[in-house]
Amino acid sequence: MVRVSVVCCLKLLLLLALGGHAGADAPAYVDAPGGALWINVLHETLKHGLAPKSWTDYLHLTVGGTLSNAGVSGQAFRQGPQVSNVNQLEIVTGRGDVVTCSPDENSDLFYGALGGLGQFGIITRARIALQPAPKMVRWIRVLYSDFASFTEDQEALISADETFDYIEGFVIINRTGILNNWRTSFKPQDPVQASHFQSDGKVLYCLEMTKNFDPEEADIMEQEVGVLLSRLRYIQSTLFHTHVTYLEFLDRVHSSELKLRAQGLWEVPHPWLNLLIPRSTIHRFATEVFGNILKDSNNGPILLYPVNRSKWDNRTSVVIPEEEIFYLVGFLSSAPSASGHGSVDHAVSLNDKILDFCDKAGVGMKQYLAPYTTQQQWKAHFGARWETFERRKHMYDPLAILAPGQRIFAKASLPMSS
Ligand SMILES: Cc1cc2nc3c(=O)[nH]c(=O)nc-3n(C[C@H](O)[C@H](O)[C@H](O)COP(=O)(O)OP(=O)(O)OC[C@H]3O[C@@H](n4cnc5c(N)ncnc54)[C@H](O)[C@@H]3O)c2cc1C
Repeated sequence: MVRVSVVCCLKLLLLLALGGHAGADAPAYVDAPGGALWINVLHETLKHGLAPKSWTDYLHLTVGGTLSNAGVSGQAFRQGPQVSNVNQLEIVTGRGDVVTCSPDENSDLFYGALGGLGQFGIITRARIALQPAPKMVRWIRVLYSDFASFTEDQEALISADETFDYIEGFVIINRTGILNNWRTSFKPQDPVQASHFQSDGKVLYCLEMTKNFDPEEADIMEQEVGVLLSRLRYIQSTLFHTHVTYLEFLDRVHSSELKLRAQGLWEVPHPWLNLLIPRSTIHRFATEVFGNILKDSNNGPILLYPVNRSKWDNRTSVVIPEEEIFYLVGFLSSAPSASGHGSVDHAVSLNDKILDFCDKAGVGMKQYLAPYTTQQQWKAHFGARWETFERRKHMYDPLAILAPGQRIFAKASLPMSS
């Protein structure tokens, strides 16, 4: 172990233990408490020139919380989700046992807890893989009006050896403006004509990418970015780019959070819908949802980007589509008003229409952060993996005391076991 540091956060004492170090043979890692916020893990590891490899878009979430789901962002195509970047966990099971687990030790609990929705134990510590932290980030957005070109370019980028470090995308259906008003921290610098671009009422697709770099090697990075951009088919007048520190980039949603909080728009209901859609049905999905069901995207961003299944470990509890490439499509709606277009009812009715279409059209999607309310729905969600999930529940939390809010297991439904 190289160093132990202490962080005070909201009166909670967080112990972060770092092991290995950048450039050494042994891969670097950090031991973080399950209740630590990712932003604090980042601050601590940056002091050592290191950082975790895989992120969520928003970092003011706990380590245990995102590992109990998956933890997905634009690095996942290359690094896998956060659950693919954990070496070891310490878990307090529903039986009250404190268990250290890893791929080699108590592996059934280790894989079960990753994406396990808190059903088998409370993650009290996670050993997270680290890499040398980049200093700066080239942050780029380009627009498309053709969905096929947009997704083909996204897929080519996530499949290439030489590519960007982060790849996401979002859909703009306001039919008037340029960018939706989320992530306003992005400051387009040039070219100037991009800021005058009009969408002419078309649905637009924004490809968002970053390239990490050290300032001394900015020229090399610019050349690499130039080559990558030259292969893409975006609308040429819509190149937006800027550069920010690595920390500023990773914590970008927090900048928006502060602005929304100041306007009283953060603490409002968020009836989100997050879907994992197989590549083979994403076009049918887009035609119906962006062409017919949704009339605008003013109530929040719509994320849409591909990831590759080979970076996800199928031994975890996370449920994903069967195809090698699938898309994360996140409808991140806010509902600031009691009635009308900004209401919860309106957002939920649109979500229901999207789900109904998926069902009837046989899109083969899986929900991420699924809000199911019955065991029957959860069984359908897990499919062939339900048996394993249920077996693990009996093994590690036989009285079903953990995370009842997920509504997967009711206390009374489980027999007492030894
Ligand atoms: C603003 C915002 C942005 C988000 N962005 C992303 C994103 O980009 N990518 C992404 O993948 N997800 C994202 N999420 C979803 C996020 O991964 C989940 O909501 C996650 O549960 C958040 O962790 P938390 O600390 O808030 O958990 P909580 O809300 O406190 O807990 C939620 C559930 O997680 C489980 N859980 C929490 N802590 C533990 C623990 N220590 N051990 C075991 N189980 C536990 C329990 O089942 C609990 O019921 C976002 C959420 C928000 C609110």
